[in-house]
Amino acid sequence: MKRDYYDVLGIDRGAHGDEIKKAFRRLARQFHPDVNPDDPEAEARFKELAEAYEVLSNDQTRAAYDRYGFDGLRGQPVPDFSQFGFADLFDVFFGGDPFGSVLHGAGGGGPWAASAMASSPRGDDVEVEVELELVEAAFGVSREIEFKADVTCEVCGGSGATPGTGRETCPQCHGSGRVREVSSLGGFGQFVRTSTCNVCRGQGTIVREPCETCRGTGRTRSQRTLKVDLPAGIDHGQRLRLTGEGGAGGPGARPGDLYVLVRVADDSHFLRDGDDLVYRLDLTMIDAALGLKTVVPALDGDVELKLSAGSQPGDVKVFRNRGVPHLHGHGRGDLRVVLNVAVPRHLSDEQRDLLRRFEELSTAESYKPDEGFLDKLRAAFRS
Ligand SMILES: [Zn+2]
Ligand SMILES: [Zn+2]
Repeated sequence: MKRDYYDVLGIDRGAHGDEIKKAFRRLARQFHPDVNPDDPEAEARFKELAEAYEVLSNDQTRAAYDRYGFDGLRGQPVPDFSQFGFADLFDVFFGGDPFGSVLHGAGGGGPWAASAMASSPRGDDVEVEVELELVEAAFGVSREIEFKADVTCEVCGGSGATPGTGRETCPQCHGSGRVREVSSLGGFGQFVRTSTCNVCRGQGTIVREPCETCRGTGRTRSQRTLKVDLPAGIDHGQRLRLTGEGGAGGPGARPGDLYVLVRVADDSHFLRDGDDLVYRLDLTMIDAALGLKTVVPALDGDVELKLSAGSQPGDVKVFRNRGVPHLHGHGRGDLRVVLNVAVPRHLSDEQRDLLRRFEELSTAESYKPDEGFLDKLRAAFRS
């Protein structure tokens, strides 16, 4: 059982065109797809609302409906909304980004006014790569970067019109940037939708005498230089976004964003592991066996390292807070020094003899690991 169109819109039978539009816009708001995701009830209600609006906003169909009810609409141009998806339907009624406008009650003049905000194309987003040394990424650095991007035309100041002339309201869409199109639904009546005006490409204004330098676009392509501060702790593969530093927009439109993609060159000393740095310390087997006092080059100054006798390959010494500073935070990662013990590859006869002599003097005790706490406990029980 279909509901009466006037009931659907909640208006009197004598309502004026403006009241019909207002009622439709007010009610349509409640069925915003963002407010009612995948709600079949909301979809059905919106379709009902759209149908009621279509019929009552057209004098011909409204008169037929007033006189004969639903029967009067046979053969009349009443759209069948059932075949349309919910989101598509919203798009048909409100254009590209309608609900922002409808929800915030922008504009007047009919439901289409909601989508009739003239707009220029937003500027392009631009991506640039920057290559840093590890120490630069760790502690931050300022870099001048160069890139190609649209900039506002200096001759016309971005208006696109020859200096001294101006922009005029588009004669095709009368400044709304959108045009209404009526199309046939193949026997089911006709269907109304709005689309971007092709004369002004949605801007609502045109120029009679385009600026020669930018050919009316208000923008020219140019080499730009920008100083960018790369924050301490940034890592390879991260992108920095600089809002509004991309290409200039068309007349009245906002610029795009600049993305700086960070590449960090391999370092000859350190591997980066998150905010930790890993350093491989090469020792001779003699140093490892006898112990050693040495210095390790951290990113910011040397650190002293004391190795006890009997240090083993793969042992790790950790220096807290000597790694990379945390991005957007306090503190730093650690410096981890990993021991690598080198075994001699080429020996003289004398060295060979000494090592053999050393081996003769060695016992199982010479290679026995230090006893851990549990081993000591076990040893105590055994004796
Ligand atoms: Zn220009
Ligand atoms: Zn236009």
